Amino acid sequence: MIDGKETDSANGEVGHIRNPADIRETVADFSMGSIDDVKSAIDAAYISFNKWSETTPRARSQILFRAADLISQSEAQIAGLLTREQGKTYPESLNEVRLTVSVFRYYAGLAPTISGRKVELSDPSEFGLVFKLPVGVTVAIAPWNSPVILMAVKLAPALAAGNTVVAKPASSTPLSDSVLCELVNKAGLPPGVLNFVTGKGSVVGEELVSNKKVSKIAFTGETETGKMVMSVASRGIKRVSLELGGSDPMIICDDADLDLAINAALISRFRNCGQVCMSVKRLYVQEGKFESLVRRISERIQKIKIGNGLHDESRMGPLHSRAQREKIEEQLGDAIEKGANIVSGGKEPDEPSLSNGYFFFPTIVTNVQTDSKLITEETFGPVLPIFKFSSIDEAIDLANNSPYGLGSSIWTKDLYAAMKAANKIVAGTTWINSYHEPQIDLPFGGLKESGLGKEMSIEGLENYLETKAVVVNSKGKNRAWLD
Ligand code: NAD
Repeated sequence: MIDGKETDSANGEVGHIRNPADIRETVADFSMGSIDDVKSAIDAAYISFNKWSETTPRARSQILFRAADLISQSEAQIAGLLTREQGKTYPESLNEVRLTVSVFRYYAGLAPTISGRKVELSDPSEFGLVFKLPVGVTVAIAPWNSPVILMAVKLAPALAAGNTVVAKPASSTPLSDSVLCELVNKAGLPPGVLNFVTGKGSVVGEELVSNKKVSKIAFTGETETGKMVMSVASRGIKRVSLELGGSDPMIICDDADLDLAINAALISRFRNCGQVCMSVKRLYVQEGKFESLVRRISERIQKIKIGNGLHDESRMGPLHSRAQREKIEEQLGDAIEKGANIVSGGKEPDEPSLSNGYFFFPTIVTNVQTDSKLITEETFGPVLPIFKFSSIDEAIDLANNSPYGLGSSIWTKDLYAAMKAANKIVAGTTWINSYHEPQIDLPFGGLKESGLGKEMSIEGLENYLETKAVVVNSKGKNRAWLD
C-alpha cells in the first residue's frame, strides 16, 4: 500500500509464501517490492508529513484506538495467516495479535501526554521552551520471527508521535504485516501516512536506509544486518533504533524454586521453536541441582508435541525455513565436534507426517565448550545448552561472556544475590524469578551488540520524538554586550 492505494510491484516481480510446516502448501503469492516502489513510498510519506505532524495528539490517539479495535476484530484472520506463513502455533499467533492490540491501545493512550516544558533562564527577559517534535519520515523494518508485534511496536509509537511511516516486513512474512497495515490505514489515516512495501532486504534495504527524505530507521533483525543499517544510516546522521540478536543467559541457583524455573526455561527456550530474540539460549545451573535439572528438563521436552501449528495438539511448530534448520544443525555439529553431549533431541523427526516441514526435535546439550558456535553465535532454534557453575560470581562472569546483552534471568530466593546479578549482568533486562515475557509498560532493548534504543513503554515513544529548544525574549530587551 503506497499513498493509500494498493499497488503491484513496479517491476512485476512476484514472491511465493510457503507454509514451513508443509512446504507443498503455497500460502499466497505476493507482489515483491522494488527500489522504485520504495522511492514512491518514501515520497508519499514525505509529502504527507507536514499535515500529519500538525494533527493533534488527541486526533492521532483516536485513530490508533480505532486501529486497535479493527485488529482485535480480525485477530483470527491475522493469527491464521501468521501461523501459515511463519510456522508458530495458532495460540502463539493469537497471543502475538492480542499483544499487538494492547500496544496500539497503549500508545493511543500515551499520545495526548506528549508534552514539552517551560524553563526559567538566567536572563529574566527570556524564558526557554522544550519542544517534543516528530522526527519525520520513519522506516520500520521487521524480521520474520514475530512479524506482527515487532511491526506494531514501531508503527504505534511512530504514528502517535506524528511521524509518517514506510513499513517493510521480512520477505518471508509479508502477509500478516500487510493485513496489519491495511487495518491501521482503514482506521482513518490520511493517504501516505502509513505506506507498506515488500521486498528482499538485499534489494530494497539500501534505498530504505539511505534515502535523503528518511529521518529515522527503526530496525529489528540480526546483529550483522543491524551493523550494516547503522553504517549506511550514519552517512546521513539518521536516527536509528536497533533491536538485534540475543544470547540470553538464565542462572538457576541451588536454592531456586526448581518447578518454576524449569517451566520458565521450557517456555522461554522452546516457544516459537526457539526463534525468539529473548529466549533463554544459555542455561547455567548451580552444581547441587545440575544433574536433577538436566534429567527433568530432558524428560519434559520429550513430551512436547511437535506438528503443524494449526493442529490443536501441536505445542511446537517447525523452524521457519530450510536455512534456519541448516544453521541449527551446523551449530550443533560444531559443538559435538568440540566434545558436547546431546542429552535429548538433536535431529529432525522421522515421522512421515512431518517430512514436508522444517521440524526439529527440542534439544538439550551438555559439555559445550565456550568457543562453540552455540555460545559465540545466537542460536535461533530449539537447542538449549546447559552448564554447571559453583558460585554466583562465576555465573555472572559466564553470563557476561557474550557479545550480546539483550535479556537475562536469575532464579534464587536470595534477594541479595539476585540484586547483585541484576546490577552486574550487562543486559537490557534482568528477570528475577520471572521469565522472559515482554511487558508493555517497561522499556525493552539490548545492550552491547544486541542493539540501541528501546521499544515498548514511554521510552518507546521517546524513540520517535526529537527534542528542540526554543528561547523566547518576552520583554523586548537586548542582552547586555560585553562592555
Ligand atoms: P534479518 O536481519 O535477516 O532481517 C530483518 C529485516 O531486515 C528483514 O525485513 C530484512 O528484509 C531486512 N534487511 C535485510 N538486509 C537489509 C539491509 N541491508 N538493509 C535494510 N534492511 C535489511 O533478521 P531476521 O532473520 O529476519 O530476524 C531474526 C533476527 O532478529 C534474530 O537475530 C533475532 O534475535 C532478531 N530479533 C531481535 C529482536 C529484538 O527485539 N532485539 C526481536 C526479534 C528478532
